[in-house]
Amino acid sequence: MSDYIKIVAYILAGIVGLCVGSFLNVVIYRVPNNMSLARPASHCPKCGYKLKWYDNIPVISYCILGGKCRSCKEHISFRYTAVEILNALLWVMCVALFWDDSIAYACTAAVICSVGLCIAFIDLEHMLIFDRFQIMMLVLGALTIPFDKNTVWYSHLIGMAAGFLAFLLFALIGKKVFGRDALGGGDVKLAAGIGLILGWEKLILCLLISSVVASIILLIVRKKSKDEKTKEYPFGPFLILGLIVSMMAGNPIISAYVGLLTGK
Ligand SMILES: [Zn+2]
Repeated sequence: MSDYIKIVAYILAGIVGLCVGSFLNVVIYRVPNNMSLARPASHCPKCGYKLKWYDNIPVISYCILGGKCRSCKEHISFRYTAVEILNALLWVMCVALFWDDSIAYACTAAVICSVGLCIAFIDLEHMLIFDRFQIMMLVLGALTIPFDKNTVWYSHLIGMAAGFLAFLLFALIGKKVFGRDALGGGDVKLAAGIGLILGWEKLILCLLISSVVASIILLIVRKKSKDEKTKEYPFGPFLILGLIVSMMAGNPIISAYVGLLTGK
C-alpha cells in the first residue's frame, strides 16, 4: 500500500512540479518588474499575443512551438522550460530522499527548492534578493525544525545565528578590504534563512560548496569575458546551489567525513 502511495507521489511531484515551475517563471519575470502575479494573463512580451491554455502547457508547448511565439515567431528563452524541468526534478528528488522519513519534511523541502529557484534566477538577472523571499525562507526554516529527524532543533537556531553573523562579518571585512560591497545585505539575510533550514553542520557544507563553486565559475567567466575586476557578480545563486545540495546530500556526506576522521 505504501509503495503504491509513493509511486503516486512520484508522478504527482513530477506533474505538479512542472506546473509550479511554470508559475515560478511568472514570479521570476514579474516580481522584479513590480508587476501583479495575477494580471494580466501571460502574453508575448514582443507582440502582446495572449497565450491560450494550450500554449501554456509546461515543456510540451515549448517543444510544439519550437521555442517561438505562435503569433510573431519571436524566440522564447529556453530558461522558462529549464526552470520547469529543474523544479520538477527537485520535487521528485525530495520525494525520493525524504518521503520515507517524513512526508511533511519532503513537502517543505520541495517548497524550499522552489523558493530557492526564484531567488537564484532573480539574483542572477537583477543582482537583487527580495525581502519577501527571505521571509519565506525563514518561515520554511522554522517549519522544517519539527520534521527534521536528522538534526536537533537547536542546531537549526545556531545555524541561523551563525549564517547571519558569518556573512555580516564577511560583508564588513569585504567593505574594509576592497572598499566596496563584496556581499549584499540580501546575502546576509539569505545566509540566516539557509542556516535555519540546514542547521549549523550542513550550513558549513553549504558555505564550502557555494564558495568553491563560485570561485571556479568566476575564474572561468573572468578569463573568458576579460571584464574589469570591479564588475560585481551575484552570490545568491551559489548559496542556493549549496543549500539544495547540502539539504539533499548533507547527511551522508557529513557522516562519511566524520567516519573518515574517527576511522569508523
Ligand atoms: Zn509574439
